Amino acid sequence: MQQEFLPVMIHAVEHAAQATRFVHTSFVVDGVSKDDKSPVTIADWASQAVVSLLLGRHTTTAAFPLVGEEEAAALRAPENAELRCDVVAAVSHAIGATSEHECLDAIDRGRGIATGRFFTLDPVDGTKGFLRRQQYAISLALIEDGRVTSGVVGCPNLPEQNANYDSADPIGCIGFAAKHGGAFLLSADGAHRRITIAPWSAGQPVRACESVESAHSKQDLSAELLAELGSPGVPARLDSQAKYLVVARGGADAYLRLPTKKDYREKIWDHAAGALIAMEAGARVCDVDGKDLDFRHGRELRENRGVFAGHPDAVALLVEAFARRSDG
Ligand code: AMP
Ligand code: MG
Repeated sequence: MQQEFLPVMIHAVEHAAQATRFVHTSFVVDGVSKDDKSPVTIADWASQAVVSLLLGRHTTTAAFPLVGEEEAAALRAPENAELRCDVVAAVSHAIGATSEHECLDAIDRGRGIATGRFFTLDPVDGTKGFLRRQQYAISLALIEDGRVTSGVVGCPNLPEQNANYDSADPIGCIGFAAKHGGAFLLSADGAHRRITIAPWSAGQPVRACESVESAHSKQDLSAELLAELGSPGVPARLDSQAKYLVVARGGADAYLRLPTKKDYREKIWDHAAGALIAMEAGARVCDVDGKDLDFRHGRELRENRGVFAGHPDAVALLVEAFARRSDG
């Protein structure tokens, strides 16, 4: 069991959450469009800087490459001086006075190579949820030779108990797991409890969850698959890897992520930590063809498409239902 690095990872994610919360309370946040048209905000940059700086302060983890979603190139542009200033303010709020130079370099340390032993980070997973002040996650995983060995998913707006996902909880919660060590949920008072998936058997309704964004998961198809399993209705919709946490703690029986584009490949930082937590809680996590997620191929899950995560029996039926749809 690789638990050695969890404390420093949790510490980093907790402080990154302080930076993202500060951004919500202190600034009017707009997304800046990246080349792939997805949004990035000062919270994404600040969170990546915080995690990078805190991992860098620990003698062992400082040596591991960091593969983060963001980079500082756009932030370094002369016209973005104001954004840079806001990022530095958010980072300094979370971890104490930090210079612009330190922040930018820390963000760019996230351009590590995804091979051997490395961290992967989504500093604000579900940026659209962050912008809507709904669910988002700070997601950090340790990958060793293609195996995810530790994962932390911080969900600053997710209530610790299953509840309404559409509004922002004032406290939030953090899920974490080490391979073969079980999955845990950390609450605001510092206590942690073990979490497991809910019991489920065929014939029971499937309590499902999926992306809010229909561009990220084919929602009409998920409704059809669930109906085939005898579960008509609309899945709970929430952004980010908070979905893996909801499954892991028994709040949903399945998370469906059905490809919307033939050539889209899922990014490792969008799944590594969440998938480990769900599996350690007893879930099966695989792609829509029933294949294990394969983290051996750099920054993308090149050999997979889509994701199912949930009770193993429910996932088995979803894989079968998906295969029937693909044949027909
Ligand atoms: P979610 O909040 O679960 O919808 O996931 C947010 C993540 O979806 C972002 O971090 C993106 O990396 C990822 N994403 C972007 N485009 C797509 C797409 N076409 N299909 C699946 N995921 C995507
Ligand atoms: Mg993401």
